[in-house]
Amino acid sequence: MTTTNGTIENGQLDKKPPVLPRPLSNLEVQHCKIFINNEWHQSVSGRTFPVYNPATGKEICEVEEGDKEDVDKAVKAARAAFQRGSPWRRLDATGRGRLLHKLSDLIERDRIILATLETMDTGKPFLHAFLVDLEGCIRTLRYFAGWADKIQGKTVPVDDSFLCYTVHEPIGTCGAITPWNFPLLMLIWKMAPALCCGNTLVIKPAEQTPLTSLYMGSLIKEAGFPPGVVNIVPGYGPTAGAAISHHPDIDKVAFTGSTEVGKLIKEAASKSNLKRCTLELGGKNPCIVFADADMDLAVECAHQGVFFNQGQCCTAASRVFVEESIYPEFVRRSVEYAKRRHVGDPFDSKTEQGPQIDQEQFNKVLEFIQSGKEEGAKLECGGSAIGDRGFFIKPTVFSEVSDDMRIAKEEIFGPVQAILKFRNVEEVITRANNTEYGLTAAVFTRSLDKAISVASALQSGTVWVNCYNALHAQTPFGGYKMSGNGRELGEYALTEYTEVKTVTIKLAQNNH
Ligand code: ADP
Repeated sequence: MTTTNGTIENGQLDKKPPVLPRPLSNLEVQHCKIFINNEWHQSVSGRTFPVYNPATGKEICEVEEGDKEDVDKAVKAARAAFQRGSPWRRLDATGRGRLLHKLSDLIERDRIILATLETMDTGKPFLHAFLVDLEGCIRTLRYFAGWADKIQGKTVPVDDSFLCYTVHEPIGTCGAITPWNFPLLMLIWKMAPALCCGNTLVIKPAEQTPLTSLYMGSLIKEAGFPPGVVNIVPGYGPTAGAAISHHPDIDKVAFTGSTEVGKLIKEAASKSNLKRCTLELGGKNPCIVFADADMDLAVECAHQGVFFNQGQCCTAASRVFVEESIYPEFVRRSVEYAKRRHVGDPFDSKTEQGPQIDQEQFNKVLEFIQSGKEEGAKLECGGSAIGDRGFFIKPTVFSEVSDDMRIAKEEIFGPVQAILKFRNVEEVITRANNTEYGLTAAVFTRSLDKAISVASALQSGTVWVNCYNALHAQTPFGGYKMSGNGRELGEYALTEYTEVKTVTIKLAQNNH
């Protein structure tokens, strides 16, 4: 996932305010405990786990480590909050919308605190956290706040001895398991539609990045959500995360993360209670540049498309297909861009790229770079780590990449651009679709016909034409094939958080 509402559309932070916001220095982390029933709890086991700053490698704080018993407590609270007659169930739909607006107001008030926490925890540049992540959170909450009292069923014509209508009801208690690349934004993508439809929630943030999610606990309480509506249990995936996906009293789980874990979640759902699943998983996204494209725009978007967020986006433009006649010039300009990219302290306003999230991801990305070299791709620039503190990697560009190389097949999740060459439309469509993933794709061309026909042929949940990462709260996002199930955002997200009930009423016989 990535940006919402085009704040980084076309490779630019296009809504940069005239006065840049400044991060807070020496921000103390206030919320490190488990949030259940609007109260802060220690873990049942008494264990805590460390959270690190990836720019320095230093520990930020210890967080209570939730496990199965803590998830059980959270589920009990969430189920009680969902009971018929509870304050949450008695609240009318407009009231739910008002609470979501209030939550959004509080995020706006604390936007600098949240952006600072997100940068400490993820290493992403502060300005990106403030302008992209937080903007996306606020807009998504406001969008779903507006939906709360507009979720309507239908009256369905059958024969005239019946009156039939449908009602869209909340599913119940929903689990949300979130990733570390956009910790708060991915949480809001789940929380906003879930609450707008009247569900209750048990959330498990990624173990690397729980801080902004925990901060949200304090805002949930301050906004006035009744106890138990939102519960947040930090902890590890195979313990706390698995407790959610296996839980018989959780009715639905929404997950963003790797395809590997997505499969485990679906398996757990089917083994426990067939809970509904929304899965937003990996991508190996083609970005297709035709010779008639606006070259400046295409180079910049392809660059931003893969390097944004340190390359840690499921939408990353990780396969750039460029038409043969413009290939050398495209590579030359892409390398210039990559060499100019400012990598460093994420709190410095000049910084465009911070560190990778942790040692494991850092090692994985360097291994991919090594495999690219060994398999015969041409390393144009970058290709190694920077310094010995934190997890920084040089923006890396490979040309002469072929489809069978690992860097062209597997999700790298790092600052590595792979540029491939193609000759004609049919060939590039076949190659672009030749992957188990189908999350996003992009096409750059000045021909409307070409744009429309290629967009129609690509097997992918989103196709961008002459832009990249242009995501909006109003439009659905999700994957074909192994990129996932279901859709987040937009009106389509409502169907992921509601059950449809058919009410059929037999009418008295009509005698005239
Ligand atoms: P990555 O491999 O990029 O770290 P993951 O898919 O492992 O991404 O993690 C995404 C989220 O899934 C995190 O919150 C993580 O704790 C959680 N998770 C990992 N393993 C499991 C599991 N077996 N069951 C449920 N959740 C898990």
